[in-house]
Amino acid sequence: MAASADRVEVFISESRIRERVEQLGREIARDHQGQATTMVGVLKGSFIFLADLVRAVDLPLEVDFIGASSYEGTTTTGEVRVTRDLSRPVEGRHLVLVEDILDTGLTMRRLLDHLQAHRPASLKICCLLEKPARARVRIPVDYRGFLIGDEFVVGYGLDKDEQHRNLPYVGVVRSAT
Ligand code: 5GP
Repeated sequence: MAASADRVEVFISESRIRERVEQLGREIARDHQGQATTMVGVLKGSFIFLADLVRAVDLPLEVDFIGASSYEGTTTTGEVRVTRDLSRPVEGRHLVLVEDILDTGLTMRRLLDHLQAHRPASLKICCLLEKPARARVRIPVDYRGFLIGDEFVVGYGLDKDEQHRNLPYVGVVRSAT
């Protein structure tokens, strides 16, 4: 396939992300002292955020992944499927679900219901980005990176048709037409 023709403008810089991720890591560590903790990344979009975040949490912890799929390109189908489950039992453990972005909230709602069925001791939500104007269900976010407007963002793990995940910043796509 040809290289992407999109132009991406920096929206949240690498240094602002780094600073915020370190703060979130300190908050998560403070709240989970002495607790058996598993940080669960939502594939694929959270992979870079999770990798940076777990290194900012100064606690013994486990890492796992869960897969969810709802989007085709940039438009939602409204249906959310769990495409990959946790690799180990988490009953009695303290979970932090790590998501790249909360848009309508439908993916997170589905994942919360799914994870509660695994009977964790607690379940907290950490998301890098949240678009409050687009929320269709209320999700109680415990650790939030940045509130943003109704923009389609890419980079730092987030894609548009599988492109741009490797950008070190969060950017906005300006389509070259
Ligand atoms: P929700 O179910 O909250 O509407 O959507 C959550 C998922 O939609 C995210 O995990 C992400 O995969 C995708 N998504 C929502 N908004 C954006 C966006 O602005 N950029 C990208 N790349 N993905 C988004």
